[in-house]
Amino acid sequence: MPQLHVTDRRDLLACRRCDAEFPEGRATKDGWTYECPECGNAAGLGDGLRRV
Ligand SMILES: [Zn+2]
Repeated sequence: MPQLHVTDRRDLLACRRCDAEFPEGRATKDGWTYECPECGNAAGLGDGLRRV
């Protein structure tokens, strides 16, 4: 799914499962639930994802 949305925010998240790093905006569809866009296997801040 192409991401054309440009974000001003520098908030980076990293996946604890696959170590991918990505902007917060890529990791959420609704701004509430977070999931790794790379592996889809890690969800939730603090549990599956961490702030860089
Ligand atoms: Zn991942």
